[in-house]
Amino acid sequence: MRYNVSHTSIALERALNCEPWYMPGDGFAGRIFRADAATSMNTYEVKLVRRDEIAEGTMAFYFEKPASFSYRAGQYAEVTLIDPPESDAEGPNRAFSIAAAPHESELMIASRMRDTAFKRVLRTMPLGTAVRWEAPIGSFTLHTDAAKPAVFLMGGIGVTPARAMILDAIERKLPHSLTLFYSNRRPEDAAFLAELQRAESQSPTFKLVATMTDMAGAKQPWSGETGYIDTAMVQRHVADPTAPIWYLAGPAAMVGAMRALAAKLGVNEDNIRTEEFSGY
Ligand SMILES: Cc1cc2nc3c(=O)[nH]c(=O)nc-3n(C[C@H](O)[C@H](O)[C@H](O)COP(=O)(O)OP(=O)(O)OC[C@H]3O[C@@H](n4cnc5c(N)ncnc54)[C@H](O)[C@@H]3O)c2cc1C
Repeated sequence: MRYNVSHTSIALERALNCEPWYMPGDGFAGRIFRADAATSMNTYEVKLVRRDEIAEGTMAFYFEKPASFSYRAGQYAEVTLIDPPESDAEGPNRAFSIAAAPHESELMIASRMRDTAFKRVLRTMPLGTAVRWEAPIGSFTLHTDAAKPAVFLMGGIGVTPARAMILDAIERKLPHSLTLFYSNRRPEDAAFLAELQRAESQSPTFKLVATMTDMAGAKQPWSGETGYIDTAMVQRHVADPTAPIWYLAGPAAMVGAMRALAAKLGVNEDNIRTEEFSGY
């Protein structure tokens, strides 16, 4: 089992079957036992139904969704390979945000495909192979007070929970204003980019600010923002940075940089929610 800093909270959530709970208006946050049995964590064996390369070096894996599987957009799963043909020191399990929105018919995770034993197995195992999902886990989910906008600061594979939350909010016609800042080196590295662009063009509540940081090395054209997400870029698109709830996800370095940026913008710590992809 891989328990590091972030996994401490997984262990706690498992042990207590509880998670942080926010009162309407987000004025109070505490930890209470879940009353919501429909989304409590369970163990499932789910079969791989297909996999696609969705950006350079990035793959999506689609699994059958059991009828009893229920979750909130933004939550994650602990995925364990069952009797894998190879393993390494990190073992047969990894955490993945559930990138599919709850209304979609399949479960889906997406990952940068490094050459590790876990990912070699995921990439090559026959369709129909079952893996174990412990899910749903976590409280990285959209706030309920629609008067507060949501701003997502995501880089690379950190987009996975944002995809689920944004497509879910659009599907459920939630009135929240949603802005996604999405940073990648090049357009060809940006998973779900075309789909997010389509969602933006079809939804009055969702604004996508995609930015590319290395167009010199790009094969595809790009006419949007370029350069790292910085205070000037955010201020061009967010009128009052103190109003939204801010969502940051991805590798620890990215989350750390985005947290520092939010602080520079004067965002109150209480309005920042993070999901660190430990292991990157
Ligand atoms: C809540 C949560 C949600 C997550 N969601 C996602 C998600 O949606 N998608 C996703 O892809 N990941 C996600 N992760 C991270 C995921 O669990 C893995 O840790 C990650 O994908 C790396 O796995 P790996 O097998 O490539 O490398 P590991 O075997 O886990 O790597 C172990 C260590 O080896 C080093 N390493 C390995 N290969 C390389 C390499 N090629 N270059 C440099 N260093 C290397 C790294 O320093 C790393 O820390 C999430 C993690 C958490 C905690």
